[in-house]
Amino acid sequence: MKLTDCEALDRADPLREKRAAFTIPAGMIYLDGNSLGVLPRHVPERVMAVAQQQWGETLITSWNDHGWFHLPRKVGDRIARLIGAPQGSVIAGDTISVNLFKLLAAAAKMNPSRRVILSDSGNFPSDLYVAQGFRDLLDDGYELKVVAPEDVMEAIDTTIAFTMITEVDYRTARLHDMKAVTAKAHAAGALTIWDLAHSAGATPVNLAGAEADFAVGCTYKYLNGGPGAPAFLYVRPDLQDKVQPALAGWWGHEAPFAFDLDYRPAAGIIRNQCGTQPILSLAALDAALDVWDDVGMQAVRKKSLALCGAFIELVRQRCERHGVTVAGPSDINARGSHVSLHHDQGYAVMQALIAANVIGDFRAPDMMRFGFTPLYTSFTDVWNAVGILARILDNREWDQPQFLARKAVT
Ligand SMILES: *Cc1c(COP(=O)(O)O)cnc(C)c1O
Repeated sequence: MKLTDCEALDRADPLREKRAAFTIPAGMIYLDGNSLGVLPRHVPERVMAVAQQQWGETLITSWNDHGWFHLPRKVGDRIARLIGAPQGSVIAGDTISVNLFKLLAAAAKMNPSRRVILSDSGNFPSDLYVAQGFRDLLDDGYELKVVAPEDVMEAIDTTIAFTMITEVDYRTARLHDMKAVTAKAHAAGALTIWDLAHSAGATPVNLAGAEADFAVGCTYKYLNGGPGAPAFLYVRPDLQDKVQPALAGWWGHEAPFAFDLDYRPAAGIIRNQCGTQPILSLAALDAALDVWDDVGMQAVRKKSLALCGAFIELVRQRCERHGVTVAGPSDINARGSHVSLHHDQGYAVMQALIAANVIGDFRAPDMMRFGFTPLYTSFTDVWNAVGILARILDNREWDQPQFLARKAVT
């Protein structure tokens, strides 16, 4: 693959105009949109308007007059379109970790005779921590069974209460077959909880088609909702009124402003809300989602695979001799939209890359991770990033004290 190939791919790219919708600092090659998506250009103005006109002027009446109270549901419906979920099945709010706790409790209540939660060792640690906290809180014989990602299918049996699986592995990009896992779980009498952190906005998800029971995801990665943007939660429509909320709060009450002393869950997805939601963050996310209005997930997937494929090919050509290897499946169709590279000095190499304005991140123990966000990453970016990586490795530019010292956030 040559530079002219990358330039030709850019010219033929149907999503190339989208880049102009984002703010990307001059000279920066940003390959970390899988961790924190870039700023859509029009978002600051919208957030300022909400702050100045709604918070500043109409104040508390904005809960009604500017639709603040229904914003989590409205934003949820906009996310639903991107993850193959029907309207009214997704609510925005809280964090993945908090939403996961809610769903663990809901799933456990729905499958009361079973005690095994199945997850895999490629799952994001916070998900496992939440499950451990849940298990220990109940102190009721629950077991968290963690198997290797490739053993998930085989581990689904009639002891499993529910699975808690992240569809795209945050390190290796390995993609689980949501439909197959869900079908096997259902056949065994188990429910499924999916984490879409690295799927939403990156790969075409079809929650309804897969008959998934529950899902969570975040919006600050591929959906560009901003740092700490609200997460989302999905419940299959026919299960919604069976959910018994463990975090029963007034925002999930049938009549929050009746101020009854007793909790009565609202109908539908609303009962999964707990308390007051961050309106400025929701407003930023609502605005950020405008970018997706005319985008189809199949086009995103097509470009994502081409970007990842180009990166992998160029890394093999130019970096393999330095001991760099590609993590995760060799079949590109079994991957999400990021690529991690193993290297024994991965941390220092990534710091040198960041100093050269190629932004990725590092995931222990030895992975340099690069996210390929089809709406604003070009094939020329991929070419240039690999060129700089090869230069850093060829010249051992990473071998300097300022790159070897670890920072708090990697
Ligand atoms: C990013 C990520 C999270 C983040 O969880 P928060 O509680 O929203 O901070 C959770 N799970 C996975 C798989 C992730 O990649």
